[in-house]
Amino acid sequence: MRVGEHFCPGVFHAVQAKDGLLIRIRVPGGLIEPNQLRAVADLSHSFAGETIEITSRANLQLRAIRNQDLDQVIESISLAGLLPSPQHDRVRNIVTSPIAGLDTEELFDPRPLVHELDRQLRAEPAFANLHPKFSFAIHGGPRRFRRDLDDISLEAASFDDSPHFYLSIGGTSSGFVVKRANAVECILAAAKMCIELALESGAPVRAKAIATISGTLEHITGALSHLLMASPVEPPSPIVNEALIGIYPTAQGGDRRSIVPSVPLGRLTPGQARYLADAANEWEGDLRLAPWRGIVLGSIPKSAVNKIVDHLHTIGLSCEGRDGFQGIAACAGNNGCEASLADVRGDAASLARRLLGHAAPSGWTVNLSGCEKQCARRHGATAELVAGPLGYTLNIEGRRVASDCSREFALDVVAALHENLLSEVAAR
Ligand code: SF4
Repeated sequence: MRVGEHFCPGVFHAVQAKDGLLIRIRVPGGLIEPNQLRAVADLSHSFAGETIEITSRANLQLRAIRNQDLDQVIESISLAGLLPSPQHDRVRNIVTSPIAGLDTEELFDPRPLVHELDRQLRAEPAFANLHPKFSFAIHGGPRRFRRDLDDISLEAASFDDSPHFYLSIGGTSSGFVVKRANAVECILAAAKMCIELALESGAPVRAKAIATISGTLEHITGALSHLLMASPVEPPSPIVNEALIGIYPTAQGGDRRSIVPSVPLGRLTPGQARYLADAANEWEGDLRLAPWRGIVLGSIPKSAVNKIVDHLHTIGLSCEGRDGFQGIAACAGNNGCEASLADVRGDAASLARRLLGHAAPSGWTVNLSGCEKQCARRHGATAELVAGPLGYTLNIEGRRVASDCSREFALDVVAALHENLLSEVAAR
């Protein structure tokens, strides 16, 4: 076990933050069992500041843990089955659609591949060398959710009767597809080559970094040519970059629904998490963490939806998309980070209060960061607020519009922008 400040957190790599120790728990594909979420809720209540954070790679984060409680926290996480291979504690990022297997537009359910990829990753000690941010993505297409930084991704392709996946490395389309039967072998072989190339070049073990080295992509696809074929279709399908909120039909037929609540700033209380877990158990549904820092309560009988949605509303998890929080992300801010120059979480909540009662315009994304490091950053954001010593820097659609401005001014501008965008939509 390590405790420190300068590495990416895991369960065995607790990071010392302003509010205590912070750990990150791997949840491949965001596919968490209800009883596992319940166990994390109990831990959060007893040891971790009553907050469960959902990360942008659909893992979980606990913070504000005291040093003397860390051993017990680790043991409980292990007992919940969330630490299947201590060696691979930080080899954790497998992203898939949070409505995989439920999506009515999906070509193939990618979850069996997610499980198989996770099993094989954990079986191979060499993969413990992957960078903790190294991210695999497997999507069943044609709908997927925006991820800027996936290292190796597979996107379902439809062009004949046999299932294929389009391969991208370091965010660059390879021009090749792989059969579903070879998909896991291909993605792991590519990852292994990334490790080898990183060792040779001194680059970080991230496909994004390695792909910038001239000829790398050709080298990897050449070595994998026995698994690949040139793609006869245009890659990949359009990216859907918005969070889902609301009630959605499922591919299981007419009587099951997915319930997708808003999770303000990606944080659940233990009570909220317990209710979601209990609802999934009671109605034989399932749970998926979402890369927009949300959660999906999947496969719920239609007859139970209203009752669940009403209760979610009473505990602060609205499904109406009008709580003002949709699209807003904030970093740890003053409470959790020594570097923070503003109460960005408080300011994010103030902004949400200004927007309360209104739906978010299409693509609405606001990032609030407590310093120049911009941990809350998502590329292509509608608005970014970055705290400095003299106030916020405000960027709108990537362009700086104000520096050193007060929180009131920055929030007013963003709220006015929100109103304008909604007016434009209404006028069409
Ligand atoms: S953006 Fe700055 S203040 Fe916010 S969590 Fe990152 S380092 Fe801390």
